[in-house]
Order: sequence, then structure tokens, then C-alpha cells
Amino acid sequence: MTVEGLDFCGKSTLARLLEGELGGWRVRFTREPGGTPAAERIRGVLLDPRGAMDPWTEAYLYAAARADHVRRLILPSLERGETVVCERFLDSSLAYQGRGRGLGMEAVRRLNAWAVGDLAPDATFYLRVGAEERARRARASGAPPDRIERSGGAFMRRVEEGFEELARREPGRVRVLDGTLPPRELAALVAGELRALGYT
Ligand code: C5P
Repeated sequence: MTVEGLDFCGKSTLARLLEGELGGWRVRFTREPGGTPAAERIRGVLLDPRGAMDPWTEAYLYAAARADHVRRLILPSLERGETVVCERFLDSSLAYQGRGRGLGMEAVRRLNAWAVGDLAPDATFYLRVGAEERARRARASGAPPDRIERSGGAFMRRVEEGFEELARREPGRVRVLDGTLPPRELAALVAGELRALGYT
């Protein structure tokens, strides 16, 4: 299963709290871009504020990191019978590069075909948080913005539209959650949904 959303929507907090909620399950927590040593190095290139790059280069690098992550971590974990909880996956590329950068969701999906093969999350939790609240959290975090976060409000609005479109198109897989709920409540909600889906 995957957790998706814009920057500062609370994905990492949710994943951390889920770890407690799912105690006893064989769960592998991971994230994108990253998750394996090679993919984490690619993450460094992608997020470096000095590294201006062509949008296609950006899309290929996310796909390249994903190829390593899928083959070296996600598939082996699933084969061992573990539940994989992944922060961001293909949906982020569709929203950020496909819609945000304007490459087109279908083109980015095709570009990722070799990276993901026929792997797809069986459930995706999209944390919806409005722009004002995300900006407030960004200020409170005090962290300097990475290269993508410097892309501006219009870019982020397109990314948001991208996630909203994915949620509309695939309501069975993509569950929209109110990301302003208290984190523990959200974690309990997600754990409940996972149990209902038959995860153990
Ligand atoms: O979620 P996290 O903060 O770890 O993501 C790292 C950065 O990569 C964020 O700025 C996010 O917006 C960006 N990103 C992106 N395209 C993706 C995935 C993440 O621009 N496909």
C-alpha cells in the first residue's frame, strides 16, 4: 500500500504512527524517492537545490530510482510475505512530473512501465491538506525548501490537481483522507481500512 500527497501533507508522520498501529504485522516501511542505497543517491541529485534540470531528466531519474527500489526492495519483501508500506510511488510521478511539470500523465506512466512492470499498490491513501495549512507546516518545520519545493505555487496547484484527478479516476484504490485530522486518528483509520482489506 502507498501513502501519497503533497509536501507537508503528513505522510511521514502517518507512516511512523502506523508502525505502532500495525505492531505484530510483518511490515516493511519504505519511501520514494529512495528506499535503496542507489535510489537514495538519486534522491540527492533530484532534490539538490543547485541542480536545475530538464523535466524529462527529472522524470527519468524518479523512474530510475523506482526501478532499483522495486526490484531490490519491494518485490523481494512482497515475496517474503511482508506488507509493504511505501511513502510515494508512481502516483507522485504522475502528479508531479506528469501534471506539475506538464509532461502528461500518460507519457509519464509509459516512461515508468519498465520501472514498475505490473506492480501496483492495492490501496493508496491520499492525504488531502489545503495549500495554506501546508505552507504553515512548511514554515513551522524550519527546513530549507528542496529543489522541487522551490518550484512555486502554480506548480504545486497543478500537482494537487493531478492527485485529485487520480483519486477521482480510481476511487476503489485511492482513498482520500483529511490530512488535517489528528495524526493518531489518521493512523487508526488507515490501520482499520487495511484490516478491512484483509491485510494481516
Ligand atoms: O515526500 P518527500 O518530501 O520525501 O519527497 C521529496 C521531494 O521530492 C519533495 O519535494 C517532493 O515534492 C518531490 N517529488 C517529486 N516527484 C516525485 C516524488 C517526489 O517532485 N515523483
